[in-house]
Amino acid sequence: MPEPRAATGTVVPIDKLSTSSDGEVLGSGGAPEVPWEKRVYFEVFGCQMNKLDSELMVGALEEEGYRLTDDVEDAGVILYNTCAVREQAENRVFSKVGALKPLKRKRPDLVIGVLGCSAQNHREKIFARLPQVGIVCGTGEFLRLPELIETARKQGRVAALKLDLETTPRFTRTRNLGPNPFSAFVSVMRGCDQACTFCVVPKTRGKELSRPVIEIVDEARSLVDGGVREITLLGQTVNSYGKRLAKGRSIGLQHVLHELNKIRGLERIRFITSHPRFMNSELVDAMAALEKVCEYLHLPVQSGADSVLKRMLRTYTIEQYRSVISQCREKIHGFAVATDLIVGFCGETEDEFQATVRLMEEIKFQGSFVFRYSQREGTRAAEDYRDDVPEEVKRERNQILLKLQQKISGEINTERIGLTEEVLVEGPSKFDAARLTGRNRANQIVVFPGKVDESLVGKLVPVLIQEAKPLVLVGERVGPGR
Ligand code: SF4
Repeated sequence: MPEPRAATGTVVPIDKLSTSSDGEVLGSGGAPEVPWEKRVYFEVFGCQMNKLDSELMVGALEEEGYRLTDDVEDAGVILYNTCAVREQAENRVFSKVGALKPLKRKRPDLVIGVLGCSAQNHREKIFARLPQVGIVCGTGEFLRLPELIETARKQGRVAALKLDLETTPRFTRTRNLGPNPFSAFVSVMRGCDQACTFCVVPKTRGKELSRPVIEIVDEARSLVDGGVREITLLGQTVNSYGKRLAKGRSIGLQHVLHELNKIRGLERIRFITSHPRFMNSELVDAMAALEKVCEYLHLPVQSGADSVLKRMLRTYTIEQYRSVISQCREKIHGFAVATDLIVGFCGETEDEFQATVRLMEEIKFQGSFVFRYSQREGTRAAEDYRDDVPEEVKRERNQILLKLQQKISGEINTERIGLTEEVLVEGPSKFDAARLTGRNRANQIVVFPGKVDESLVGKLVPVLIQEAKPLVLVGERVGPGR
């Protein structure tokens, strides 16, 4: 997942893992042939980690005979897997649940559930605010959903909010509900041991738990057998992977990368989101040496000022961040880096903001997610600091970074003109049906003519880049797909 968001704001869309305030309905596309009480309407908000959790939840429900419907009026169970990171997404869920009151009145047997991070964060308060809710289930107990639905039907209400390493759900999923069949996300860990003061994730997702290498490889193999060609490994701090996994041995993300690189049929490996503190030379060497690992790193810096990083408890300095980037640039051919930035964090002065501007100019990120800080209940910052940067200043700083990023992205993209890029084709372009769209190894969107040849979807094709825009590269296919 991209680094969890603590703030709302404008996003430069460089990465398909951005948190979103719009929900995504996991649906069947038709009315399932099961009784009404077994039909589930399921909407997921937030980051990719939430989407993966949703796949686990749907797997647990399907094993008990439940089936998805994309028609909320047709469902006997309505579930929202929520995101606590962005206020906007949270408010949106609560207003959707609020609007279900008349439906619940009409059908008292209807079970409405609020799941995931907001459930974990607000706990039983949700019942008081939204009496039509029957299930409040956090991130540690969601595999109990079938049982919770039964209990809610019998008793009206049930909460499941334990969050410890014993109750943390295991990872194995039965179904890939991802947007395309040739690209999949695989979780390597859950939770986070960091304590960034702006972030609610340690509270909502608990302590870090890594998954054994063998289990990750097995899941990746079965996904590849099913047609997947690109795997993105997910973790809140994906590069701290391995902690507490084997006594006396040091296991790191590089071990997973080495094993995945051996899988025949797998073409690309990515991993997100990395934490600057855990970038080490073994991992950088693995990125440089393994041909399937893409030369792309999502490495949130959050601010260009050490003083702000200190208030955020980010545990690295700008000098250390700089040194990670130079090591990557030195060793990894074609290295591309994207970042996350928060503007208007508690007490951010003009000088501190200018340090961020200078850092952006110096590093030249390929893309960045820029967020205006907004205080979230349950965070250290909400307890210890005042959210004192005026909203108009946050907006102004946000715009400055956004403009600067567009300029830098435009320059970086222009350097690609004349190069032939390998593109994994995702499908027809949303904006121009006569073109196909996909991503290069650096995670940039590339479009090229090709409506007539949809057989290229899911293939790797060489595209000669002829034109560059800040958010997209445009080119011509110059060879067959493979
Ligand atoms: S590293 Fe910091 S920002 Fe990322 S999930 Fe952990 S606490 Fe949140």
